[in-house]
Amino acid sequence: MVPEMSEYWTPQPPVVTPGTVTPNAVITAPSDAIVLFDGKDLSAWESVQGGAAQWTVKDGVFTVNKSTGDIRTKQEFESFQLHIEWRIPEDITGTSQARGNSGVFLQGMYEIQILDCYNNETYVNGQTGSVYKQTPPLVNAMRKPGEWNVYDILYTAPVFKADGTYQYPPRVTVIQNGIVVQNNTTILGTIEYIGFPKTVKHGAGPLILQDHGDPSEPISFRNIWIREL
Ligand code: MG
Repeated sequence: MVPEMSEYWTPQPPVVTPGTVTPNAVITAPSDAIVLFDGKDLSAWESVQGGAAQWTVKDGVFTVNKSTGDIRTKQEFESFQLHIEWRIPEDITGTSQARGNSGVFLQGMYEIQILDCYNNETYVNGQTGSVYKQTPPLVNAMRKPGEWNVYDILYTAPVFKADGTYQYPPRVTVIQNGIVVQNNTTILGTIEYIGFPKTVKHGAGPLILQDHGDPSEPISFRNIWIREL
């Protein structure tokens, strides 16, 4: 098996230009949300490698600190509504998957891809808003580098049978910048860079944010909150 066996490039999702927002407009967390980042510190997060999260907090946002590894929430979740904002740096370089690559892993398992797909072609089931290496987004809803992108993610945790197979597989709806890019999509199993999804029984899990190994400039996050469902 090689990585290319699970990548496909056509048809490219249509490009839809998101509506505009007032500069720096932020919708803050509703009253019943668990705030995972409010601009101050990474106290809700830890390094996946152990110890404190080492990403950089500055001016109300945090930025991937390359080589310190992925970070995850200390709290674990089942089904949820997640709001998370992310920004590709204006001076981003690189092509295809090596251009602002990150991602948010639901229950520590299932990656919703984050990437700069503004005029950057890649395999469609690996572009922004994809369930990585599974399902491409319905459309390309990217804002350009330097602007904030918003994900609102509705996630339904799987239910497993005693034998470890799915009774109900995980499902996900992703809205990027107010545009549906995944519509109650069935997640097929584990995220595999090489090969195809597997069914692996699991329980509650954290959110993980990816420190991807590509050499492009690191991306930033702000305004992260979650509501358990
Ligand atoms: Mg990624």
